[in-house]
Amino acid sequence: MSSTLDFDIKLSQNPTPQQERERILANPGWGQHFTDHMITIRYSADRGWHDARLEPYGPITLDPATQVFHYAQEIFEGTKAYAQADGSIVTFRPYSNAARFNRSARRMAMPEIPEELFVRSLELLVSTDRDWVPRTEGYSLYLRPFMFATSRALGVQRPSQEYLFMVIASPSGLYYPQGIKPVTVWISTDYTRAAPGGTGEAKCGGNYAASFAGQAEALEHGCDQVVWLDAAERRWVEEVGSMNLMFVYGSGPDARILTPALTGTLLPGVTRDSLLKLAPDLGIPVEEGKISIDQWEADCASGKITEVFGCGTAAIISPVGGVKGPGREWKIGDGEPGPISMRLREELIGIQYGTRPDPYGWVHKIA
Ligand SMILES: *Cc1c(COP(=O)(O)O)cnc(C)c1O
Repeated sequence: MSSTLDFDIKLSQNPTPQQERERILANPGWGQHFTDHMITIRYSADRGWHDARLEPYGPITLDPATQVFHYAQEIFEGTKAYAQADGSIVTFRPYSNAARFNRSARRMAMPEIPEELFVRSLELLVSTDRDWVPRTEGYSLYLRPFMFATSRALGVQRPSQEYLFMVIASPSGLYYPQGIKPVTVWISTDYTRAAPGGTGEAKCGGNYAASFAGQAEALEHGCDQVVWLDAAERRWVEEVGSMNLMFVYGSGPDARILTPALTGTLLPGVTRDSLLKLAPDLGIPVEEGKISIDQWEADCASGKITEVFGCGTAAIISPVGGVKGPGREWKIGDGEPGPISMRLREELIGIQYGTRPDPYGWVHKIA
């Protein structure tokens, strides 16, 4: 039974010296440094999941004809481990990531991994490399589970018969070391991220490959990120960069949130889902619906929209302060992060770091 697979444990013979590790953890940046170990689990059509290992972090060797290099069967997840004041380490809703990973797998014709095995992989890696979990407030250990096709075959009549699942971990610092500043976003009219029937709902590397040209266009126009519109009508706002989007209407006790509904072309974010549960408990009603780019501009001009923010695991909440597109430009708020954005951010981060109660059972102790 794959869900009861035992891991073969091979510890690193030359782990990063403590002094070096502490130097890295003092200023980890984002996705640049990796811990001493990694998880690998193999899959083949005839044996199922097998050969689970915890081994020293390092390069892997693959044949040039390996399927993933040619046809891009690859999916990933992103979640974080957080140090608590009592010294324990938790992750946030890991079973939600496991379930989404398997939804992505089905879309890409890849095998599903038992959720227990997925979560045990995170637990084993984090408990082995627990000294890599930063203790600094706001820092975390970013966990990156991923899976790709390893059959050595160029034939495209069928998906790969073999896969490799891996987990690596990277200490991460503050997403906004200079303090939270609203980002400016660029409306891409040339590129779309995802079309109906495509892979927009799956967390696959291919979606990112397809997004870089739009991101480059945003940077050329002096913006930080791209706003993706729907592919069919090029009207409906879907996501920003690699985050889901939320619009705050009104203010104070009258504030409410509108977020684009999951139509099949949006990535169903765990952060988005968490905010949809958290906000109403804080007295902020939420609605999943539709908002066009013209409506966004009009509702900012009339003052109905007071705040806009992107949300995702990496930045948690990232306020949007300005929008630019071919022949148009407008601002949201006064250039400072809005009170609703910051309130939600504090509440969610409080649950993750254990400084606020967790009535939802989202926090999962792993080490
Ligand atoms: C991962 C991702 C998100 C955010 O999902 P979280 O689970 O909240 O981190 C949003 N959009 C895209 C395109 C993504 O890949």
